[in-house]
Amino acid sequence: MKATLLEGVTVEEICAGFEYNELEGKGLFGWNGKLTIQPEYQRNYLYAEGGGEKEKSVINSVLQGYPIGLLYFNKVGDRYEVLDGQQRITSLGRYLKNLFSVKDSSGKPKFFDSLDEVDHKKILQTPLTIYICEGAELEIKNWFKTINIVGIPLNKQEISNSIYSGSFVTLAKEYFSNSQNTRLQIWSSYVKGNIKRQEILRTALEWVVKSSADDEVDEYMSLHRADENVDELKNYFEKVIAWADETFTENYSELCGLEWGRLYEEYHETDFDVKEIAAEVKKLYYDEFVTNKRGIFEYVLKFLSTGEEDTKLLQVRLFGNAEKRKAYDRQTKLAKSENISNCPMCALVKGQNSKKIWKLNEMDADHVTAWSKGGATDEKNCQVLCKYHNRFKGNN
Ligand SMILES: [Zn+2]
Repeated sequence: MKATLLEGVTVEEICAGFEYNELEGKGLFGWNGKLTIQPEYQRNYLYAEGGGEKEKSVINSVLQGYPIGLLYFNKVGDRYEVLDGQQRITSLGRYLKNLFSVKDSSGKPKFFDSLDEVDHKKILQTPLTIYICEGAELEIKNWFKTINIVGIPLNKQEISNSIYSGSFVTLAKEYFSNSQNTRLQIWSSYVKGNIKRQEILRTALEWVVKSSADDEVDEYMSLHRADENVDELKNYFEKVIAWADETFTENYSELCGLEWGRLYEEYHETDFDVKEIAAEVKKLYYDEFVTNKRGIFEYVLKFLSTGEEDTKLLQVRLFGNAEKRKAYDRQTKLAKSENISNCPMCALVKGQNSKKIWKLNEMDADHVTAWSKGGATDEKNCQVLCKYHNRFKGNN
């Protein structure tokens, strides 16, 4: 790869003909149309997020005469595309278009058009330092993968998008990273993540390949790189969402971010009564002993399809030290008076432990009536067993 330093090009020249696409949230062209600001493998424009502090700081740097860092352009024929510097160029372009303001020294907001003559000129005439890169596509993209010098490191999906750029990524982003997509509202009930950072796309890919391993996602993207549609990806994702939405008819914030792809694969062929599901979920949701609310949904699916009570998913609250101590004292006092073991199960067995008095730390607290059979986690339902018998009985 060849890199040539280009000095003296000004902000005014680079921003000539700048267009910002509100709908796609990206800067399109600059340098009188010679420069593509956001090529396919670039991430979306992020500097306007969170109140726009980042784009404002680009303008303040220029006004104070601080350098805004190196820009890297890739030469493709007689055109250029931005390899690194897209966020900064878009900030400059947006400011020149009066799309946001910065505060001047007296704290007043100033749009570009309201700056005084000196600051106006200062911005337009600021020289930029640009490296022009020429080389094979893959070589440049691999290099791009390693730079990450803009402050917000690329996440793994942004990197994959850059490596496998092509028609598939274009179409996938059009659907999965388009903040105007009307499906977004229903997706957000089930999928976590920032649409602009490609996190929904990432989830869709993980579901369709049925794995969250980077290698599997990359392999799929490589295989489909030149596809003219993303139907398989789209249809599978929407199928999973539709199934989740039909299966759980009531809204709970804990539904968001569950492993829907896996749950769909495991349970979509079972015929559930959705009213029964809703009733079971509600019962557990308001059970104060269930400490892991996110686990309720899978617990109910498993229970209603197989009858298995997988209480690990619920992390049912265990007895505290005070409850254990009281049960220990009560049982030990009685055991001593009757000359039997303070573990009621040891006491039942004829053998060397049938009269053994265990120490507190040799015993575990246990539900007399299992939680899953309606037994509460309170003092009256607490007994202590020796560690062996507690394991033997199971934890419920
Ligand atoms: Zn025992």
